[in-house]
Amino acid sequence: MADWHTIIRERDFPMIEQAECDGRPVIYLDNAATTQCARPVLWALENYWRSQHANVYRGVYCLSRRAEAAVEETRQICAEFLGAASAGEIVFTGGATQSANLLADAFALTELKPGDLVLSTEMEHHSNLLPWREACRRTGAELALVPVTEEGELDLDALDRLLERRPKLLAVCAVSNVLGTVNPLREIADRAHAAGCAVAVDAAQAMRCCLPGVRELDCDFLYFSSHKVMGPTGVGVLYGSEAWLERLTPPRTGGGMVSAIREDTVLYERGPLKFEAGTPNLAGIAGLGAALEYLQAVGRRRIAKREKALLQYAEKRLRELPGLRILGAPKQRAGVLSFVAPPLQAYDIAMLLDSQGIAVRSGSHCAIPLHRRLGLSGSVRVSPAFYNTAEELDALTVALRRSLEGAKKAGVPVGENARG
Ligand code: PMP
Repeated sequence: MADWHTIIRERDFPMIEQAECDGRPVIYLDNAATTQCARPVLWALENYWRSQHANVYRGVYCLSRRAEAAVEETRQICAEFLGAASAGEIVFTGGATQSANLLADAFALTELKPGDLVLSTEMEHHSNLLPWREACRRTGAELALVPVTEEGELDLDALDRLLERRPKLLAVCAVSNVLGTVNPLREIADRAHAAGCAVAVDAAQAMRCCLPGVRELDCDFLYFSSHKVMGPTGVGVLYGSEAWLERLTPPRTGGGMVSAIREDTVLYERGPLKFEAGTPNLAGIAGLGAALEYLQAVGRRRIAKREKALLQYAEKRLRELPGLRILGAPKQRAGVLSFVAPPLQAYDIAMLLDSQGIAVRSGSHCAIPLHRRLGLSGSVRVSPAFYNTAEELDALTVALRRSLEGAKKAGVPVGENARG
């Protein structure tokens, strides 16, 4: 009897099973960038375009009502997936980046004034850094970053010192997209709240690693993208507690978010609709709903356990390779493993792997401040998902060994005390 992951890989992920590029098979290990769509998601997308396509919230006719019911059903699925109090706390966006921008703009409009302090961290993806930097620039507030320790953890003592300055909000990732560090979110939220500071969590890399619910985490906001949870691109979620959504002013305006308008006043809808100006990505929302239901059906705990085992196996195999240095040593790691093999450039390593049919990511992974902190210009990142196999990680190890040995034979001093 085959393992559950072998069965679902063959049944549900045609793109993984038959992955090829230029006529050669491909081993896909870049799931932190994007995951492949599960077959039920492809069906949901097709079903949407075939039988559900109509605009929402504006039509009295049957098709529009059906499309609207489908959106609201996905809102409910998202609320349950995140452990939110109600579907009224789920705003649909174009993805994690758009969620962070929407929130930062709303926060700037409603909460920030010159002299205020906002916190982010040294390990953020640019998507959870630049929106806050811009919000601070526009309002005259200050942005400060919580530093990262040598092991690749957030420096919580430094956070405490920053919290003494009573910041308005802390924007922090649940899992680093470079080091895989799993941050102690509840502890961070408790410390922040004790200082009157709101907490916004970038969960883009954390949705498959069994993140606790938003009420358990006690965060005020949380965001993620559908395309990292086996769903389609172009859609994501911003969770905001009911009280916060009520309090914030919408930074984007347009159709669908107005309940009354007069010459000089506008009354906005309440709840998530207030933040969803214009026609949402209806097909994407249908796909996201199918993706989350799929993960629930496969079993979130099972998925998290399998991905953890694959990552630990990858780490064990990569540590066998002389000259290769894995970045960070966090207490808990999920999703990604990054490494360097100086003096080889990350780009060259990824190209060598690509020539052997292995897809990994190289560069700064949109986290330049973190790479600067580590004294690096870039790294190579491996990120297996539950549909990957130990054999694929063996193949990665063989290809890497071949690449490093080839470089050494060509006179490149790999592993001879060079910095990456
Ligand atoms: N935050 C983190 C931690 C990420 O890894 C990513 C995606 N690389 C994002 C935000 C941005 O996600 P998206 O590009 O889907 O908006």
